[in-house]
Amino acid sequence: MSRLSLSCQPYTLELNHQFTVAAWSRATTPVVLVELHYEGITGYGEASMPPYLGESTGTVVQFLSGLDFSPFSDPEKIDLILDYVDSAAPGNNAAKAAVDIALHDLAGKIRGMPLYRIWGLDPQKTPPSSFTIGIDSPGVMVSRIGEARDFGMIKIKLGTAFDKEIIKAIRAHTSRPLIADVNQGWKDKNDALEMAFWLKENGVILLEQPLPKENRDDLSWLSRQSPIPIIADEGIKRLSDLENNLDVYNGVNVKLMKSTGLREAKKIIGLALKNKMVVMIGCMTETSCAVAAASHLSPLCHFADLDGPFLIRNNPFENISVQNGGIVIPDKPGIGVDLKHNPAK
Ligand code: MG
Repeated sequence: MSRLSLSCQPYTLELNHQFTVAAWSRATTPVVLVELHYEGITGYGEASMPPYLGESTGTVVQFLSGLDFSPFSDPEKIDLILDYVDSAAPGNNAAKAAVDIALHDLAGKIRGMPLYRIWGLDPQKTPPSSFTIGIDSPGVMVSRIGEARDFGMIKIKLGTAFDKEIIKAIRAHTSRPLIADVNQGWKDKNDALEMAFWLKENGVILLEQPLPKENRDDLSWLSRQSPIPIIADEGIKRLSDLENNLDVYNGVNVKLMKSTGLREAKKIIGLALKNKMVVMIGCMTETSCAVAAASHLSPLCHFADLDGPFLIRNNPFENISVQNGGIVIPDKPGIGVDLKHNPAK
């Protein structure tokens, strides 16, 4: 009987710039690169562990090492395998995502089809994607606009004492639509509502996680009053979080590292759309492995925020490209990106 086997390799992503948001700052992101092997075919996956989410290289490697794939002889039985992976331990969302991505890549390669085609999606219907500029002095943030290349939107991190200065400075240098991401950095709902009106006047089209996720009553109030959609990031990780927060936000930023991968991300997108919410497909700092995987879901979404590989300087995978403001979905079997070089070297 053929065997499904997993190997993994810790790797450190080096960011182009110190990355600062309302609550923290960092220059690297640990990831674990995963390979699932089956009959000479390799599926690639990735776990990215920004420290604030609680997973680490150690927890991911420990979770993956405890998995036993010997009962599974058919890697195309994705639901069966991922049900087992999800039940192996609570939490470990990024580690589970790595297996989910690798398994989808493997299944796509076995069938010789890109994931978007397996799902029946139109690769021409990719939404505009944003490029993120972290918190710095307004002058430095303006100097980063050129790095946004062909991205259709720019995401600006806020949550400082000088948020309006940042937006004014950026707005003076680009007419592109802006997304404001506060990373829970504001505390008062009335101030947040006043800012939402001011941001709309300045061409900001979405306001992401303005208040702490625990302040559900305030977020719900804000979502009813705000002139621009309030979308969840930290507040919604898995499908159950969306089910419990349908009236709290106007939209959701879906990320594979929060959702445990593609399978549940697709369910979250479906439920959010059914509830007429704004849907963004996003990422952490990730290589083009996890971001390419997410891109296959992007035709289902209103917006994308898939800039991860463009924020790092040592992507071990082939790059993905940006055209007409959005990510081009790779047109090869599975997720559609191969390793450029062995990350262990
Ligand atoms: Mg965010």
